Amino acid sequence: MIHLKENLSVLGSTGSIGTQTLSVARELGIKISSLSANKNISLLEEQIREFKPDVAAVFDEKYAKELKEKVKDTPTKILSGTYGLCEAARCKTADCVVTAVSGMIGLEPTIAAISAKKDIALANKETLVAGGNLVMNLASENNVKIFPVDSEHSAIFQCMQGCKDKKNISKLILTASGGPFFGKSKKELQSVSIKDALNHPSWSMGAKITVDSATMMNKGLEIIEAVHLFDISENNIDVVIHRESIVHSMIELMDGSIIAQMGTPSMKTPIQYALTYPERFKSSVPTLNFSKIKNLSFFEPDYSTFEAMNICREAIRKNAAQPIILNAANEEAVKLFLNEKITFCEIIDAVKAALDEFKNEKKPNSLKEILNIDEATRNFIKELL
Ligand code: NDP
Ligand code: MG
Repeated sequence: MIHLKENLSVLGSTGSIGTQTLSVARELGIKISSLSANKNISLLEEQIREFKPDVAAVFDEKYAKELKEKVKDTPTKILSGTYGLCEAARCKTADCVVTAVSGMIGLEPTIAAISAKKDIALANKETLVAGGNLVMNLASENNVKIFPVDSEHSAIFQCMQGCKDKKNISKLILTASGGPFFGKSKKELQSVSIKDALNHPSWSMGAKITVDSATMMNKGLEIIEAVHLFDISENNIDVVIHRESIVHSMIELMDGSIIAQMGTPSMKTPIQYALTYPERFKSSVPTLNFSKIKNLSFFEPDYSTFEAMNICREAIRKNAAQPIILNAANEEAVKLFLNEKITFCEIIDAVKAALDEFKNEKKPNSLKEILNIDEATRNFIKELL
């Protein structure tokens, strides 16, 4: 039996993961049921004309109206706002939803997709950080599978295919490129610019995740993501810096054996595996040539300069409201940094201030409570200015 997905909904189709997903879909001949974006309607229009989805959602209402006019000669239905994103997520013809929007805005559409019993190919890590318990419980109640797209988590998932009993796994080892500021001291970080932060050594990604890679918040968020996806304690998740981004992550087994997943750094590999699991298909990603690479290097992360990883570990150990607070504060602080309102080091200062301000916040029991904590944190960060 071939398990290849037949019809996809792609949320965030105009972004880095979204466009690479459409490229994989094009190569594999997968049809597209729905698409969504925030504002980039010129690219969305091109995608509508090529893939002929049933639905396209634009979060911004003004742009949604404009797009509706532009594509009125096509049968694609244009929707807007959170409602539009949720309708795109539960589009009838789709069998899988690729969540490739950036940020917590992806939580409600992800919940809509799971409730409509769609499998999820999950790139949007902020959704799991903020709503991990809710999302994973809902997925299991609805018998929905969540396939990781984040390269480290896809690597771990792929390594797990070589281990029959999960009880034999003693550790997950997440690799991290170290970002553009690897080896820098706290003092040196005081004066880095937006351009420096956006200059990632090995991956070309959206601005938010690129800044997260520079602060190492991305690796912290990934620790939380792994806790939810693989139901493992953060104590059993190690991080190692690996500058070449060839080893995408590893699992350590009880007998000391380590299984690693390697490949040319391209997000098309994890995207494709999420769409073809458990099958393998030919891919356009170039294969590795070990004699050209020559060396693979590994280093201990600098936890005192890049505090975000330990902040995330502490937050998920408590597993109350802290992950929501740190995620919302980080999203807002990264926006302020990209708008030149705060410095690079002030991003993590803002996250710490928010965690302190809301330290007594109780564990949320519903989507509404998660959204309330998220909003209160964002307002706090905006007022900090
Ligand atoms: P991009 O910034 O490149 O793309 C984000 C997408 O989300 C765009 O389509 C954007 O639309 C859309 N979007 C942004 N805000 C909203 C909103 N308010 N409502 C609706 N849609 C919105 O991000 P990436 O592709 O880099 O990342 C997407 C997700 O995947 C993130 O969660 C990231 O952490 C994760 N990820 C990314 C990796 C990568 O290599 N890029 C690797 C691993 C994980 P528009 O174009 O109109 O602004
Ligand atoms: Mg990653």
